[in-house]
Amino acid sequence: MPELPEVETIRSSLAPVLTGRKLERVTIRDPRLTRPEPPEAVAASLEGERVADVRRRGKYLVVVFESGRHLLVHLRMTGNVLHPAPEGHENDPHVRAVVRLDDGSDVVYRDVRRFGTWDALEPGELDEYFASRRLGVEPLARGFTAACLGRSLAGRRAPVKAALLDQKAAAGIGNIYADEALWYARINPLVPAGELDAEEVASLRAGIRKALRLGIRRQGATLRDYRGADGSRGSMQDEFRVYGREGEPCGRCGAPIVKTRVAGRGTWYCPVCQPLRRP
Ligand SMILES: [Zn+2]
Repeated sequence: MPELPEVETIRSSLAPVLTGRKLERVTIRDPRLTRPEPPEAVAASLEGERVADVRRRGKYLVVVFESGRHLLVHLRMTGNVLHPAPEGHENDPHVRAVVRLDDGSDVVYRDVRRFGTWDALEPGELDEYFASRRLGVEPLARGFTAACLGRSLAGRRAPVKAALLDQKAAAGIGNIYADEALWYARINPLVPAGELDAEEVASLRAGIRKALRLGIRRQGATLRDYRGADGSRGSMQDEFRVYGREGEPCGRCGAPIVKTRVAGRGTWYCPVCQPLRRP
């Protein structure tokens, strides 16, 4: 599932392609993409819009139009935005939408599992949209301080990993980067979020930023479906310290990495570097 680094990688390659271009023709083949709005109506409303910028908020791609409207794309499990359009996309049953740009090229939205969403927002609706989803601060922004993270974890009895996944403390972290961040911070994923002391919160903040920055530098992790917008694969999977590495030695202490479940998700950690009972 694409997380912040994967979405940021897609954003950075789409921005130069889309910025300044007009959407000439929009075809949405799958009503699930826009529901409850009818796909034809959303497609028609997007035609003629000119792109001012392509941004990211958490795991959302935010296409900013000169009109002040926005298109929010959430890739969920298996969504991909591809440009240039891959060969044979006209006959690919997993292509859910195609946008023809005014330079004659196509942007293709492909999604095998069909959980991705497209939301077209009117001018002024963006902040409320994110607020209603209780989307936390951007973890790579200046405002993401240890104090800020500490405030959003305070009093929470949920495991710290679950708190990282729910997007309220910080936007854009998913299963991979939560595990990696906790390993860097030497914090057990099952520790109740509200029990972290100030030093641990500071380590966690640093671990989150380190894991996400590394992910962006490696252009994301390609495990199954994720590709960059140009079809390229990321290499963050080569940097995993714990994620998916059950039984392999910890790069710091050599102990075998263990797997457990937190918040219903597979969770990997080092039992020695990340002990549950802290000394
Ligand atoms: Zn270790």
